[in-house]
Amino acid sequence: MKIHLHAGAALLALLPLAAQASLSYTISYVDPFNLVSAYRPQIDSHIGAAMGAWGSRLKNSASIEIEVRIASTLAYASGFSATSGYVGEYANGSLWQQGMAYEIATGVDPNGDDADVVIMLNPGYVAHQLWFDLDPVARTAPVGADRTDAMSVFIHEIGHALAFNGWGNGINGAPPAGYGSTWDQFVSYEGSNMYFNGPQAMSVYGAPVPITQGNNFHFGNSPASGRPGSDLANDLFNGWMFYNGQRYGISALDEAVLADTGTELAKQVPEPAGAALFMAALAGLFCARRRRRTAA
Ligand SMILES: [Zn+2]
Repeated sequence: MKIHLHAGAALLALLPLAAQASLSYTISYVDPFNLVSAYRPQIDSHIGAAMGAWGSRLKNSASIEIEVRIASTLAYASGFSATSGYVGEYANGSLWQQGMAYEIATGVDPNGDDADVVIMLNPGYVAHQLWFDLDPVARTAPVGADRTDAMSVFIHEIGHALAFNGWGNGINGAPPAGYGSTWDQFVSYEGSNMYFNGPQAMSVYGAPVPITQGNNFHFGNSPASGRPGSDLANDLFNGWMFYNGQRYGISALDEAVLADTGTELAKQVPEPAGAALFMAALAGLFCARRRRRTAA
């Protein structure tokens, strides 16, 4: 992975540390046939550890309601915010932040007591493919060689609820006319490939970040595809494969996407003018209109 450290990074150690934020949470299940009852303690502990992993990187705290839906209609897993929060206007129309991120940024829960985050799991995937960690915080035991690391999956899915989502299609990244997400606003298409152009993500990667063709809201493309971004194979948000036996964690690039999409990080990072304007716009907003998420 190409990581280009900012020239000012060495100075950051001299700055006072921000207070540690935390993401508190509740977990409820929609599992009417009790297909994952035996796994609930592990799912709970992994979601908690995943919330801790993200929370430790954030400036602000929040209390997030998480709903785990067990469904055989999807093959593996998915995660998303149940709603979005209106944060302003942009070239395509109204601009919407993922509901979880909106709540973290504003302190306003955009949908009250309803679930903020939905994590969907195929029960067979849980039972036969995921590898649950005895210590999902430490993450030191060898991952089962023939299994997918469950912590990687839960961190990834919660990341979708924070930032990696929108209404843009998988071909050119364009959302429908009139609205888009804080991710969608930064997606470009040069005729054959999509790129993420958030200023902080580009600063970390050193260039516009290739988006997975056919799987928007993810980074990179497989070497076999011949498309750009094969160097992102080990990123938590690579959009083609979680290899068995391998752990994935939150990268500097993933953190930069949070910053670009309106989530303030605990660590101090250079703030581009565009981001400063965006946060100023966010601070002035009080309404929390509902919009259902429609993209995968
Ligand atoms: Zn994903």
